[in-house]
Amino acid sequence: MSTFVRLGKKVKHFAKAVLLPEPKCSVTYCRRIERVKTKERVCAMTFDDGPMGLPTSPDLFDGRCLTDVLLDTLSEFNAKGTFDVIGITADNYPDAAGAPGTPAWGGTAYDHYPAFEKDGFGGAVNCPQLMERIIREGHQITNHGYRHILFGKKSFVYGKRHTLGSLDKVLEDLEALDRLLRGQYGYPMTMSRPPHYVDRIDKNFTSYDAYEKMGYLYLAASFDGAGWLPAKSADPVQAEIDEMVEPMRKKLEEDPDFFCGQIIFQKDGYNMALRTPVAVGLRKQLELLDAAGYRVVTVQELLKRSPFADVGAEDPDFEAFRRLIDQGRAVAYSDNTLRPDTPMTCGEFAMLAAPRSAAVDDRLAKLQAGDRAYRSRYSGAMAWCKNQGLLPRQAKESAPLTAEVLSGAAELFGGTLPVEFTRRAVLRSYKTE
Ligand SMILES: [Zn+2]
Repeated sequence: MSTFVRLGKKVKHFAKAVLLPEPKCSVTYCRRIERVKTKERVCAMTFDDGPMGLPTSPDLFDGRCLTDVLLDTLSEFNAKGTFDVIGITADNYPDAAGAPGTPAWGGTAYDHYPAFEKDGFGGAVNCPQLMERIIREGHQITNHGYRHILFGKKSFVYGKRHTLGSLDKVLEDLEALDRLLRGQYGYPMTMSRPPHYVDRIDKNFTSYDAYEKMGYLYLAASFDGAGWLPAKSADPVQAEIDEMVEPMRKKLEEDPDFFCGQIIFQKDGYNMALRTPVAVGLRKQLELLDAAGYRVVTVQELLKRSPFADVGAEDPDFEAFRRLIDQGRAVAYSDNTLRPDTPMTCGEFAMLAAPRSAAVDDRLAKLQAGDRAYRSRYSGAMAWCKNQGLLPRQAKESAPLTAEVLSGAAELFGGTLPVEFTRRAVLRSYKTE
């Protein structure tokens, strides 16, 4: 092979890996919720890495701990937060402290919350009163990992970090926190965000596989509430608060509807410089949102406006689409778009028709046993549909649906196949129980 061809291939590979990180998006049970489509002035806020039982920094609230300060502030505005909590980081040793102001501020090999060697003051395990208060006051709790360990490798910034590695280990970690919330508080969690948004898990699995197995949605965010990066300024405390407030003020001035359906990222803990600008910045953000007529609700509540990123209540088929989601069917893509006016493929139809156990559990079991035929996300559902005679044996998952391909599945449409095969037409005429 000539050097040029090799180089060309390398460039192409690089472009694929870096410039187009997720070229193919498939229909999944686990949708990544970044924002939802709504014209209503309602938005959500997520608070990562808490709860935190240490005072704010600087301490401006007479020693009151950060999570209590955030809860006091939310309550004053009748706002509901989504607390993306951890379990405990006390077992993440041996480790060495990193330099403040760098991504290793909380530890070199692991993260430690609220801070290095202060693991006893944070997380759901150590802060039962805070957990109870969060639940009692109507906020949502989501799973940010029991030990906040990266699911898989991430080069550059977190190259030296320990990872959970296998899908089994990731599931074990998520289940530990899930069990704690159910057992101690009777609280069922329904969403999760991976530590540092690292999706990759060993052996080509991703956080989507783990979340599908857990029955979770992927909690993302569309707007950075800021304050977590250290400011370099004569008055860093004020500068970090300004970082939280000014971008939001500007966005609202440009377009008062900017935050409709958005999810704002916040931190329930120290920032990289061991300060807590959120303790003051949150109030200022809520003042801005309040003045613009916004209500801050949980992500769960936000999803009631619309489960989708691209289709809202004004769509004529919205109720039909929503019914399918309410029944727990896989109808949207992993980026939470519905894309109603594109053609539906056989693989997407299989995800709609097959039971979750076939599409998720059977497929993951085959993959973990090393059966590479099940690498495609639709393979479990396709196999099930073929066995049931709903799709012909030779059907390819990427092929568009046709009347011929669907001839064995008319019953699923009340005996009459749709006249066209856009995703809209198929989803609309699919018969639900
Ligand atoms: Zn985190």
